[in-house]
Amino acid sequence: MKILHVCAELFPLLKTGGLADVVGALPKAQVLADSTAEVRILLPGFPNILQGINDQVKVTELDTFAGHITLLFGNFQGIHVYIIDAPHLYNRQGSPYHDEFMNDYTDNYKRFALLGWIACELACGLDSFWRAEVVHAHDWHAGLACAYLSARGKPALSVFTIHNMAYPGLFNSKHLSEIQIPADFYQMRGLEFYGQISYLKAGIFYADHVTTVSPTYATEITFPESGFGMHALLQERRSHGQLTGILNGVDETIWHPRLDHIITANYHMGNMKGKALNKTYLQTRMHLPVTAKSPLFAVISRLTEQKGLDWVLSALPSIVEKGGQLVVLGSGDIWMQDAFKHAAQQYPKHIAVHIGYDDALSHHIIAGSDVVLMPSRFEPCGLTQLYGLKYGTLPLVRSTGGLADTVIDCTLENLNDKIATGFVFHGFDTQALDNALRRVFALWSHPKDWACVQNAAMRQDYSWHNTANQYLTLYRNLF
Ligand code: ADP
Repeated sequence: MKILHVCAELFPLLKTGGLADVVGALPKAQVLADSTAEVRILLPGFPNILQGINDQVKVTELDTFAGHITLLFGNFQGIHVYIIDAPHLYNRQGSPYHDEFMNDYTDNYKRFALLGWIACELACGLDSFWRAEVVHAHDWHAGLACAYLSARGKPALSVFTIHNMAYPGLFNSKHLSEIQIPADFYQMRGLEFYGQISYLKAGIFYADHVTTVSPTYATEITFPESGFGMHALLQERRSHGQLTGILNGVDETIWHPRLDHIITANYHMGNMKGKALNKTYLQTRMHLPVTAKSPLFAVISRLTEQKGLDWVLSALPSIVEKGGQLVVLGSGDIWMQDAFKHAAQQYPKHIAVHIGYDDALSHHIIAGSDVVLMPSRFEPCGLTQLYGLKYGTLPLVRSTGGLADTVIDCTLENLNDKIATGFVFHGFDTQALDNALRRVFALWSHPKDWACVQNAAMRQDYSWHNTANQYLTLYRNLF
């Protein structure tokens, strides 16, 4: 089976969120799960991608609606990668999507249409040595691949994975003919979305099968509250058995406390001494008082409304009053960055904030803290809570999407059955979070119970092997 993953990010070369982690891990896991699977990735030639892919050779050069491009072919960690080399479109430093002032690039419609178009061409013989049989497109950036394939009479099967419904990839419909989408695709039963074109909807409508990254999210998005206006279409696809939720995994070569080469001291379930050393390192590094007594909370996140961190801001006085500490690593909305910075100034002995993106620091935080906070309003899958489980850093989450699927609350029954792995709350306000925080402090005062919950958390198996097999089975069933 020849599988082409189409996406805009690849960990560790270019990452703005969980999408990159998935694409960095899934192709490798698929090859391990089935040695006959030929798995390749197609990416835009952003600077970090062009620099990071080895052994590049030219496949072809061609003129497209988006100008003259060169298709390159290389290799990354044993996986073959196609890169669209088009400096006029992709040679921009920083975020792949917007400029330094957070303004989306005005030619995004063309930059990502080209990604989908080349994917379709790779199913039509653009590379005479290899033709994709399954095109697996990820998020709105790659959604048009499914539309182009449909327009060309489906030369390959298409699977579209929604990593986040909140980003619809909306553009002006006047671009349609320029990007060579047939005019009759612009309709409600097509890629039209309230007078615009949505690349996300293109993926959802035209793919042979739609997946999203957790079973609960696959249900949630069929309802108006979480479907961002596309719930009816998603409901329809689900009723035909064409929408499924497949939970993301954890790349254990990167995220495992026994193997992690970034953290201060490795540890494992049988010997947690290393975790205490990581806590001391983290407190020292973040200029917090070094103490084992305070529970150390952590946030590693994009700082946006989605992540429910405004509730954390409101709950800060209560964390501080009870003697907790908090480390925040993140970037995003300016007002939220400022609010966390302000809180760190107000409570320097309790709160430390690092604004920015720092992969190594995120490992130190996951290893060194006691609780990782993810009170998201919605969360398609979430990876940070999975890392927390693996490292015995108990996740505190709102019961939504993948968070609901992966964390088991510390209720008395669950504690008794030794299956609790974290703290789960259901409400939609600061009070609900506050109640969950009270439970954290209550459990913290019972170290034996805390250790028991850590044990259950670290025993969870969210390896990619399972996930890779589920996708492979899905492709096979589509043939
Ligand atoms: P999303 O994709 O919505 O941002 P996920 O939890 O699925 O959320 O994935 C986020 C990924 O990005 C995780 O691997 C998390 O550790 C990482 N991450 C988020 N913010 C930062 C940051 N500021 N520095 C380092 N890693 C971060």
